[in-house]
Formats: sequence, C-alpha cells, structure tokens
Amino acid sequence: MKIDVLVEVNVGTQDQTFTYLVPSELESKIEIGKRVKVPFGNRKLEGFIVAINNQPQDYQLKEIISVIDEQKVLTPEMFALGKYMSSITLAPLIHCYQTMLPTALKANRNINIKIKTKTYLSLNKSKEDVLSYVESTKSKIQKDILNLFLDKDLIAKSDIIKKASLKILIDKDFLKEVYQEEYRLPEAFKNSNQVNLTIDQLKVIEDFQIGIKDIYLLYGVTGSGKTEVYMNIIDRCLEEKKQAIVLVPEIALTMQLVNRFQNHFGNKVAILHSRLSDGEKYDEWRRIERGEAEIVIGPRSAVFAPLKDIGVIIIDEEHENSYKQENSPRYHAHDIAFYLGKKHHAKVLLGSATPSLESYTKAKVGIYGFLELKTRVNNHQLPQVKIVDMKESMRQGYRILSKELITAIKDKLNKKEQIMILLNRRGYSNYLNCQSCGHTFKCPACDITMTYHKTSDMMRCHYCGYATKKIDVCPECKTKSLRSIGFGTEKLEEELKKLFEDAKIIRMDLDTTTQKGSHSKIINAFSNREYDILLGTQMIAKGLDFDNVSLVGVINADNSLDIPDFRSGEKTFQLLSQVAGRSGRTSLQGEVILQVFNPDHYVIETVKEHDYEAFYRQEIIMRKKLNYPPFCFIASIKIISKEYEKGFKLSKEISDFLKKELPNNTVLGPTMANIFKINNYYRYNCLIKYKNKEEVLETLKKVQNHYQTNQNFKIEFDFNPIHF
Ligand code: ADP
Ligand code: ZN
Repeated sequence: MKIDVLVEVNVGTQDQTFTYLVPSELESKIEIGKRVKVPFGNRKLEGFIVAINNQPQDYQLKEIISVIDEQKVLTPEMFALGKYMSSITLAPLIHCYQTMLPTALKANRNINIKIKTKTYLSLNKSKEDVLSYVESTKSKIQKDILNLFLDKDLIAKSDIIKKASLKILIDKDFLKEVYQEEYRLPEAFKNSNQVNLTIDQLKVIEDFQIGIKDIYLLYGVTGSGKTEVYMNIIDRCLEEKKQAIVLVPEIALTMQLVNRFQNHFGNKVAILHSRLSDGEKYDEWRRIERGEAEIVIGPRSAVFAPLKDIGVIIIDEEHENSYKQENSPRYHAHDIAFYLGKKHHAKVLLGSATPSLESYTKAKVGIYGFLELKTRVNNHQLPQVKIVDMKESMRQGYRILSKELITAIKDKLNKKEQIMILLNRRGYSNYLNCQSCGHTFKCPACDITMTYHKTSDMMRCHYCGYATKKIDVCPECKTKSLRSIGFGTEKLEEELKKLFEDAKIIRMDLDTTTQKGSHSKIINAFSNREYDILLGTQMIAKGLDFDNVSLVGVINADNSLDIPDFRSGEKTFQLLSQVAGRSGRTSLQGEVILQVFNPDHYVIETVKEHDYEAFYRQEIIMRKKLNYPPFCFIASIKIISKEYEKGFKLSKEISDFLKKELPNNTVLGPTMANIFKINNYYRYNCLIKYKNKEEVLETLKKVQNHYQTNQNFKIEFDFNPIHF
C-alpha cells in the first residue's frame, strides 16, 4: 500500500505531496485525514494522509514510521474548505489545514494531550431482573447500591464506598463500568434572567427569520440590545436541532458577552479562547465534535469548529480588523463564514454599531439584508460628546489633560461615578530625541523609533520586541540633551495619579495584561467599583458594559487620522464611537470628552453627533474619488528581501509584469511598505486595484510559480490587506 502525504516543508513546488510505503502491519490503520510520522531527509516529520496512491512507482520509496491518530483529524468537509481557502488566499494548502485545527491536532507540533477518563457505573440488566434480585438478596449493602440506580442512569464509581459489594454486583453482571472523557474546564450553569424583548428587537428577529437573503447586516447603535437578539436567534436555531457559531473580535475583551451566553445557554456553549491551554482547547473541540456543545463562541478561528449542522453564524463587531488573519493563510473570517453558510444553508448575521464601509454599502444596495436598531434599549440617551481643541488647551498650559477633562473627572469622582480614559499608545513616551543634534533611537532591526517604558527603564521596539536600557548621553553628539517626545499610557497614569491623589486608578494595556486571566481581573475589579478610573489603549474601547461609567475621555483622539491608510478615517470613527458607547449605558447620563487637534475634521464632527450615516456619506465620496473599496478590491504583493537593492529590482520586475498582464486594472508601486524595515528585512509593496478576482488570481499564480522564494527573499500575497 502507498499513500500521499502532505508535510510542512519549504521544498518543491507549493502543495507537493510525497509518496510513502505503508508496512503491512500498519495498513489497517490507514485512513485519509489521519496524521502519520514519516522520514524526510534526515528528519522525522508529521503530515496528513491526503490520498491512497495506486500509481506504479519505479523508484525506491521510504516507509512511514507510524500512524498517529485513532480517528481522522481532517474530514472530507475540512479538505474541501482548506482547498477553498487556499484558492482565495494563494496560501499553501498545508497552512490552511494547520490553521483549521486546534494545536493538539496540528501536524508536527508534538503535543501530547492527556485524555483523562472517569469511570462510571450503569445497570447491565433489565429493571425487572434487578428488582427481583433486590427482593431476594440478603445483603443490605447490595440492595442499597442497586436502589441508587433505579432513578439514576450513571453514577461515578468513586462515589460508591463499599467496594467489596460493588465488585460482587459487577461480577454478577448487574452493573457494568462505563468510561467517559473528563474535561479540564469546569461546567457552566444556566443562570438566566429572561428579558422581554422590545418591539424593535422582535421586528429584527422576525425579519431575519423570514428573510430570503443569505447574509444580513444588523446595524444597531451601542447598547441597542444586539446581544439579546443574537441569543434569541440561537434559541430558535437550537429548537430546530441545529448549531450556531458566534464570532467575537477577541475573547479576553468580550468576557462579559461570553458570560451572558453561558448564563443563557449553560453547558451548551463551547468557548474557543486563545488563552486556553492546548488540553482545554482540545477538550472543547471534542465536546463540539461529539455534539455536547451546540454553540461555539470564539475569535476568527472558531469559524472552523467541527459542527455538523450549522443553523446560523453570527459575527459580532463585524468591522473589526481581528477577523483578518495577518499571516499565511491571510483569510478573512467573513469569507469562511459565507462559504459555510452556503454549505449548511445557514444564514450569516453581521452585527455592528459602526459597520465597515464595505458591509454597509452591500446592505444598502440589497446584496445583504439590512436590519436596524436605532435606539438604545429603554430609550437611554446616547452620551453627550464634547470636543476640546488641544491647540487652545496647550496655549493655556494643559498639555496632557485639558482643563475641561480635569473638571469633568473631579465632578464624577465626587459623585462616585466611574471614568474611563483612552489613549491608544502604550509606554511612557513615544520616543527619545536629542535636543542638540536631533538624534532619535531607532530599532537596529526595524525602521521605527523605539518607545520608552519607564517602569522597566527600557526602550522597546513594538514590532520585533527588541529592548535596550535607556541611556542619558546621546551616542551621536555626547551631550546630555535627550528629551522624551509624546506620551503613552504609562505617563498618562502617572499624570492622573498626580492630579487625583485619592482616586483609585488602574491601567489596562498590553504591558499590564501579559498573564492569563489578567484582562478579566482588571475588568471585574473595575466592574465591582474597586477602582474609580480605568485607563488604557484600544483594549478598553470595545464591548464592555459597565453600569456606573458616566465619563469617557479620549486623549489624542484624532492621532490615528494621520496614519497613511485609506481606512484611517473609518478606523478612527469606529474606535471613537465604540469607546463613546461605554459611557452612560444605564440610567446615568453619559458624557464623552474628545481631546483633538483637528476639531473640524468630518470624522470628529460626525462622532460628536453619533451620526454614522453622515460619516458614511462623506467617506464614501472620498472612496469613490480615489477609487478605493468598496468601489474596487485591493490585493497587496509584498516583496520581502534581506538585500535592499535586490528587493527593489525584483519588486520592479514584478510590478512591470503585473502592469503588462493586467491592463484593465490599476497596478501601483513598487513603493516602500509603511514600515520599510522589520526584523532586518526590507519590505516593498505593489498594489492592485481590481474588480475581477479570477483574472488577478491567475496572474498572481504565475508570479508565485515563477520565483523561488528562500530565507532571503519572500513574496506575500494579501487580499483586502489591513496594513500596507
Ligand atoms: P449591544 O449588544 O447592542 O451593545 P446589549 O445587548 O448589550 O446591547 O444591551 C444593552 C443593555 O440593555 C444590556 O445591559 C442588556 O442586558 C439590556 N437589554 C437588552 N435588551 C433588553 C430588553 N429587551 N429589556 C431589558 N433590557 C435589555
Ligand atoms: Zn525592531
């Protein structure tokens, strides 16, 4: 017997498989989709069996070493999905399969998951037989034991103390042992307080149920009750004996939503959390496979959960960047959801208070169904947004916190209400700069200035993690004139502590949340009112629901408008609207203060009015003028090279080829990528603006097949890229 195996190596052409012989004693274990261990050069690798090979072979084949799995890990459906993913991303098939599986089931991870089983007992004879034995036996203990089973099917063996009598009952075949896999995570229990849905919520659900579109956009302002709508739709889906997937941007930041789902659905929910251990993730995967969990909640990779009959796929905060994977395969969870929706005849529901321009446009023109929740539940008012012009504030000497924000914080502290402050920049200062010669400290491996972190007294590169001790003397001109420019959350925290000595302040950013569970700890503590002020980066902006927060302040709120990216306006609008939505979610009247340098920018003006429509109308005009999505699609081709000159030469060659092959599309570049050097690799970028993907895929495949990539030179294809 011969089999074709797909392994993860950088030799040969893309997706090449290798043929191996199967020793006769292993033949009975062979099944397509299982993993095998094979010799490869002088290494041993794991790979997936993708075919049984019946072709005659005239060269010497090597034998496989072992078959890893008892059950196949890749099903025919997963093979098909992997191929689809590879075809739309141009990523190697092996990357696609690996991405779809939990770590414990990936090839070549060499992870041994201990499967814990627990022994239970159940009756092994009919109730009549058991009853008549209970009547006749003289043993009181045996009677007692058997009586336990008359109203309970399964009892843990460890719960029965009288082992001797138990053994007799097992030997006499009255009881048998049953083994069940034990899961590492504790069971969740229902704890539901039913709400009565509002008329608006019921209408949305009704329209979704009876509608005939495949995909729906639920556009609902923050606090409009979208989560309740999701849960109700899933209730109906379970009634039809179907399952549901709920995608969220990042679990750690959406624990409140997860808890609501657990309270409502109890143990039917499986959570695929990136911070679970490999064993815990494996357990959740198995619970889903066995049909014990019917609702899967997780980040983008949860879309691959092994559900048999999907009834609905919900993507909450559909506009979030985290639905796009940044490394190969560069897939977007939307595309996988749409594919699965079609396969399972399941509808896809996208929800957001600030939809992506692409989704909103599709909903407006009728490609997606359009559902809307215009007001907050119980008609709570959206918070009042005040804009503070920092040019003016700086003149008055208020450089970090404006007078307006300081006054508002004092007022809320007095009222014992809580405050959130967003500054989307971590660290102490943005960078250090020599006042006498202008020297700045750049990462030696990346083309980017290093950020000063005061707690550790280090300068760090936020791209590659390189860190070096801060020095006082400029290495260039040897004077002591280094000044820190700009500021991050670390300095903001220091400033707040200085100004509000009695307030309890907690910071949440990448630096304070490195440990498992640290997000939840901070969120719970703030929710329990152990702190007055929560400050942080964009981590605090999304999804959180605190009932006592009545003030949200945003520092440098318009900073992100300066990023050279056609989506910077959209991303800024989304972030500011989301964080504003954290204020005044219950009976308290919410207030928001945005500190900006461009108070007249349309993004700032429309955030102030909570007017997504007005923002959309302005933004879409720009997109049309400059021909950007949704008026076209974008593909980026990144040429990544160790050598500066060679990288440029190859980029030029590729760009010329694309221009020749794709005369009906716009090909831009090569340009230097926004961050030109990362980790000692130079990065050039070509862009294609296109309408017809087939044609572009064809051409890019030619590029892919033409160049031999290696350690010093790589090409990355990215459709609908987020970073340029
Ligand atoms: P969104 O997901 O749109 O931000 P949520 O579903 O979190 O909104 O709802 C906001 C708040 O209103 C939550 O505290 C939620 O429990 C409450 N809520 C939602 N629907 C109802 C309802 N029909 N009746 C009472 N309270 C509701
Ligand atoms: Zn670096």
